[in-house]
Formats: sequence, structure tokens, C-alpha cells
Amino acid sequence: MTAHILFKDEFLLSGILSRQRAAFRHDGPPPLAQRKADLDKLKAAVLARRQEIEEALNADFGNRSAYETRIMELVPVVQTINYLRRNLKKWMRPERRRVAVHFIPGRSCIVYQPLGVVGIVSPWNYPLSLALMPLATALAAGNRVMLKPSELAPATTAFLKQLLQDLYPENQVSVVTGGPDVGAAFASLPFDHLAFTGSTSVGRLVMKKAAENLVPVTLELGGKSPAVIGSDANIETAAMSVAYGKLANAGQTCIAPDYVLVPDEHAETFLDAYRDAVAKLHPDGIGSDNYTSIISIRHLNRLRDLISDAKKKGARVIEVAPSRLIRGNNRKFAPVAILGATGEMAIMREEIFGPLLPIVTYRDVDEAIDFINDRPRPLALYYFGGDCESRRKVLERTTSGNVTVNDTLMHYVQNDLPFGGVGASGMGAYHGPEGFKSFSHAKGIFEQSRWNLGGLFHPPFNRLTDIAIR
Ligand code: NAD
Repeated sequence: MTAHILFKDEFLLSGILSRQRAAFRHDGPPPLAQRKADLDKLKAAVLARRQEIEEALNADFGNRSAYETRIMELVPVVQTINYLRRNLKKWMRPERRRVAVHFIPGRSCIVYQPLGVVGIVSPWNYPLSLALMPLATALAAGNRVMLKPSELAPATTAFLKQLLQDLYPENQVSVVTGGPDVGAAFASLPFDHLAFTGSTSVGRLVMKKAAENLVPVTLELGGKSPAVIGSDANIETAAMSVAYGKLANAGQTCIAPDYVLVPDEHAETFLDAYRDAVAKLHPDGIGSDNYTSIISIRHLNRLRDLISDAKKKGARVIEVAPSRLIRGNNRKFAPVAILGATGEMAIMREEIFGPLLPIVTYRDVDEAIDFINDRPRPLALYYFGGDCESRRKVLERTTSGNVTVNDTLMHYVQNDLPFGGVGASGMGAYHGPEGFKSFSHAKGIFEQSRWNLGGLFHPPFNRLTDIAIR
């Protein structure tokens, strides 16, 4: 990309931001009814255009399971909008806060004010829901939005651009397209807030750019989310949940269980149960349309390299798919389990983001906890088992963005829970009331009463000031 084109991008992007900001200043914060209407039309359009959505995702992935598009793109968007609508009135109300006794009858409250213009950068793995969920939340909080979706999902990005253009004026919602160069120019804009979903490495760059303008960020990043199989866990049920979480979107899910920690004595049982679970989930093999493809050749090769590196360094790589029916050139990747993976292997250092499951064994729960804590803080942690003591220990002594106990992924669809990472897996949260608050300014307002004791604290000072330092 030449400097000239970059300059043009920056110029265009700044122009959109200025127009959105001017409109925000002119119109003021949208009232409840308008925010609801904005959400309603988004929901209606998404439902009316489901067919186009399925087609766009299918085109981007080569093959995207229609079930996954429904359950992981459409359902979360619709559920998020329903949840926002139900709670918006309550969240928009000023929140009363207590005042110190010597300020009574003065009053304190918090008002959640829209920030202004929010920038959203979204990834390719769930290209519809990870763009529209933060967008709906930012609109619910009364903001205007500039969205930059991923260049690796061009059909969905084109769809999003058209959809949002049909629904909202450019000075309310605008979609900017392009790759890393446009992303970098986008992250340099002086937004009122920037929400980025993507990799930890790009998250670092985005935060640096945002810092130059003191733009607050929400970073939804990735990482290696462990699934801990407790010694008393039902192995069959745990293996099924892990297989479901791992193979959804062929492993291209930020909160997929990246690897499992299994007690030594259960490793082979878990492997057998995992193989059975994969067969149950994909009885027709990975050639079936129900099994999603890998997004690009680059990622396909990256997964192959992870396997060869693990093999070279002594790991046992086991095919767990019921068949190897890989049709044509549609970037299908057969699920594998990997026994004997160690910290020297790339597969235990990088986020896998594909259908490869390292099975790491441990002797006691302290060893499992240390294994997790020796690595960057994960986005999600899964614990399986009924023993309260081990569960308490794992949950108390590890730090992860979120946790699901006795299942995988399901914390993500709890609308009332905050969702986000910690440390290298991100900062800030959306979903739940926290999402509304992320895109709002919590303005504390104190209203002094006509009848007040304020004068007693004015100079010349007297003993009444002692009240305040007790
Ligand atoms: P990515 O970081 O490569 O790209 C994400 C977005 O950033 C894209 O729109 C891209 O164009 C843009 N971008 C690229 N370079 C940029 C730059 N220099 N400045 C600004 N923007 C730039 O991530 P990806 O490959 O699209 O997505 C996969 C990653 O996202 C995985 O690590 C996954 O764990 C993570 N992820 C996290 C969540 C979450 O909610 N925490 C959800 C989905 C994916």
C-alpha cells in the first residue's frame, strides 16, 4: 500500500468520524424509543435476510455448517438485541447513590451517558455476530458506530456494509472495509471508545494507536483456554462437551477448549470417549456440510505445521474423525487428538484455533493449576467434576476471563454475564449490563440542596471540619 493510498484512507475515515461526531453533537443522546427502534430494525433485517447470511458465510469459509451459522451467529445476535431491549429502560435511569450525612438533603446519582462515536474492529471467525453484537450494544447505549469488519470474510463484510447502509444513515453507522493498513488507520482515529475483537498480537498494536489519542479500549482477544477434567468427572459427558466446544466452527472459536488437562489414569479413557463423541457429533464424517472448513490456506498450513512440529518433538498424533471423506478443495481439516504434547511444542505455546486437541496429563490438581498459571491468563476455563473442593481450588487459584463448569462455551450465551478476557486475553467486557456500561460514560452528579451545611466548612476553618476527617 502506498503512502498516498494510506493518506486517502485516513482522510476518508476522519471525514466519517467528523460527520458522526457533528451529528451526535447536533442531535444529542437518542431517547429510549429511538434506541429501541434502532435495535428492532436490525433484528428484523437480520431475520429477514437469514438466507443471504448463510450464503455469505458459506462463501467465506468454503463450507460453513448452516447449523453453526444459525446457532452461533443468528441466535446470539437476536438474543442480544432482545436482552438489550428488555433492560435498556432500567439501565438508562439515573442510578441513586448515597451521600454523606453532612451533605443531606443533597442528592447523588450516576447518569449513563452515550460516549459519542464508538469504533468497532471485528474478526473473521464469527464475522456476523462479532460485528453486530458490539454494534447493537453500542447503539443501545446511544452511540454512533464506525465498524471495520475482517477482510478475511469478504462476503460477510460486503453483506454487513449493505445491511447497515440500508438501515442507518452514514452519520449514525458506517462500515469501513479493508485489511491491516485500513485497520491501523482506523485504530489511529480519536474515537470516544474503541472495541477490538481479534488476536492478542494485533490487540497490542491497536492499544498503542489508541493510547496516542487517549482512546479507551475494550480488547476481546484470544489465548489458550484449558479444560480441566477433574478426577471424579464423568469422562463420557466431559469428552462430549469438549468435542462440541472444540469442533464448533472447526475449532475456530476464541473460547474453544484449546487443550484438556486429564488425570494420568484417565488419559486413554478420555481419548476413547473423545473419539466416540466426535463420531456422534459428525456421523457422516468431516466431508459432510455440517463440518466447517478452515478459513484460508494460510491457516490450514499453520495447523499442518503445528502437527508436524508436535510429531517431530515426540508427540502422538491420533486421527479421531469417523472418516476421512474430504471432498474437493474445501479446506476441511480432520480433527486430531495429541498425546504427549509439551511446552517446547508450538501447539502448547500458540492459540490453536483449529480442530486439534492436545491431551495433557496431570497427577494432582495442584499440578494442573500450575500448568495453567505458567501460561498467559486464558479467555475461558472449563472445569468438569462434582468434587467441590477441587473445583473451588481450580476456580479460586486460576484467573481467566470467564468459566463454565461441567460444559464448554455456555458462559458466552448467558446474556446477563459479562464476557471478556483478562491479561493477555483482553480487557473490558461486553454482554450483560457491563456491555452497556462499556459504551457509556458513568457520570456522577451531585446536586447540592438549597438547605445545606456547606458554609460551615468554608474558611475561616472551625472545628466542624473535624467531622469530615473522622
Ligand atoms: P486479527 O487480530 O488478525 O484481526 C482482527 C481484525 O483486526 C480484523 O478486522 C483485521 O483486519 C484487523 N487488523 C489487522 N491488523 C490490524 C492493525 N494493525 N490495526 C488494526 N486492526 C488490524 O484476528 P483474526 O484472525 O481476525 O481473529 C482471530 C483471533 O481473534 C483469535 O486470536 C481469536 O481468539 C480472537 N477472537 C477473540 C474473540 C473474543 O471475544 N475474545 C472472539 C473472536 C476471536
